Amino acid sequence: MTGYERITAVINGKKTDRVPMMLHNFMAAAGEAGMSMGEYRRSPQNIAKAHIAAARKYGLDGILLDIDTCMEADAIGVPIDFPDDEPARAIGAASKDIDALIELMTPDKLLKNDRIKIMLEAVYLIKKEVGNDLLVRGNCDQMAFSLAMLSYGMSDFMADLLDEDCEEKILQLIDRAYAVHLEYHKLMHQAGADLTSFGDSSCGPDLISRDCYMKFSYPFQKRLQQDLEKMNIKTVCHICGNLDNIIEDVAEIRFSAIEVDYKTNIHNAAKVLDGKSVMFGPIDPSGVFYFGTPQRVAEETQKVLEAFDGKRLVIGAGCALPTGTPKANIRAFTETVKNF
Ligand SMILES: [Zn+2]
Repeated sequence: MTGYERITAVINGKKTDRVPMMLHNFMAAAGEAGMSMGEYRRSPQNIAKAHIAAARKYGLDGILLDIDTCMEADAIGVPIDFPDDEPARAIGAASKDIDALIELMTPDKLLKNDRIKIMLEAVYLIKKEVGNDLLVRGNCDQMAFSLAMLSYGMSDFMADLLDEDCEEKILQLIDRAYAVHLEYHKLMHQAGADLTSFGDSSCGPDLISRDCYMKFSYPFQKRLQQDLEKMNIKTVCHICGNLDNIIEDVAEIRFSAIEVDYKTNIHNAAKVLDGKSVMFGPIDPSGVFYFGTPQRVAEETQKVLEAFDGKRLVIGAGCALPTGTPKANIRAFTETVKNF
């Protein structure tokens, strides 16, 4: 089986010759290709080169394409900082006036943004090169709740969330952010991504309560799954932090897959996701992949493989691998998966 066939089979509930593996490795891949984050994010050719080289070098089954977590935020006008040695990041709000912000939030802005165009071209170049050898997953960061938060500024957004008088406006803002986000999945799919994914990094229990998640994030995630299903687009939902509190709710949405952070109880997650969503992840990118020894990486990898009995799992890191993740650790991971 090719990597593409392996991951597709797992997502469709079919058997594979072994557990497929892929890594959230844009920083590590750029580093190994000798590129700074600046050189990486400015050039679709560089992005394609770095990812294809890393996937082939380690025998991965797919490529997860990511540039940073503020692509859509950038497109709708959030001020962004572009350090040369780190991914870009949001440094302020697009507007402090929620009505103005609601007006700013329009899907047509995506294709007017040069960075979105770079991302789409990179997806196209990678898919053209790897064909049905490797699966290409295009990451559409960020989902509605997190995009609304980035655009409004975290402290104002959090304050309004807790104020009943602001509820209607906040929901309206998230609804507009949803329209922007849905468009990104469509563009990513058209550019050639076999699978899309999204981070809703701010809606996890580390930051908001389950009640808050159910009111302001869950309905939009559910809508996303339904809208994408109509367009025949399969997606992976990534939420940062410990998901124990909401894992059953997220599982009910029945995304093709859910990418889980290592902080989540994986034995419980394996049970809850069974028959609903495939698991991506969940090995600790920092404590294990970056700081761990090859032996530790092998042990953690083995633990996850056993927890899922090698089924309904696309194994990898639960979040982004830092630049400079030791090659021996990545090899320990791939060898453990191949030998399982
Ligand atoms: Zn994360």
